[in-house]
This record gives sequence, structure tokens and C-alpha cells, in this order.
Amino acid sequence: MESGKTYGKIQFVDNRGDTSVAITRPTISPVNLLGVKLTVAKINAAFDDPGYWDNGDALEKCGPLLHELGHVLRDLGFKGGDFQQNDDDNAVNLHNSSLIRDNCLK
Ligand SMILES: [Zn+2]
Repeated sequence: MESGKTYGKIQFVDNRGDTSVAITRPTISPVNLLGVKLTVAKINAAFDDPGYWDNGDALEKCGPLLHELGHVLRDLGFKGGDFQQNDDDNAVNLHNSSLIRDNCLK
């Protein structure tokens, strides 16, 4: 995932002004025409921005990464669990983050 060769890549980007910590989408690529094979997770690395990812706490940093990997798994066809792929609605997004916290970070 990190190298971008098998399932896509994680990018740390300057999304200054965007309050979202991260976003994951299928890449715009011909290999995705017959089903998603590559994704990109963009993590907001704009220092001191409202959506800034790295607050210095390792556990708090893990949450968004695992949340985005949940989207990657959904994009790649994983069907299990309660994680919702479309979490544009804030309540759904918070539900997904709670799932990550309760099942992965305790
Ligand atoms: Zn999400």
C-alpha cells in the first residue's frame, strides 16, 4: 500500500483549509475500469491546519490511518463488518471512527 504498487498508495499532502483529516478514493486509472484495484489515501499533513493529522499522539494518529484503510478495503471489495463506505454524513463518519477506536485501538 505504501509503495503504491499493489493496492494503491498513502500520500501525505498539504490540504490546508480542508477540515478533513483524510480522504480515500479509487485512483483515476484504466486498471480500475472493471472494478477497483488501486486506491489513494490522502492524509492532511498541513501543519497547524484544522484538519491536520499529526497532533503528536501516536494513538490519535493511528485512528485516521486505520479509518482510511477501512475505505481501501471496501473499495477493494471487502464486505464484512459494519464500516460504512459512504461516510460523507458526519454521523456515519463518527460511527466509522468509533468502530476503529473500539475494535482496533483499545
Ligand atoms: Zn471515512
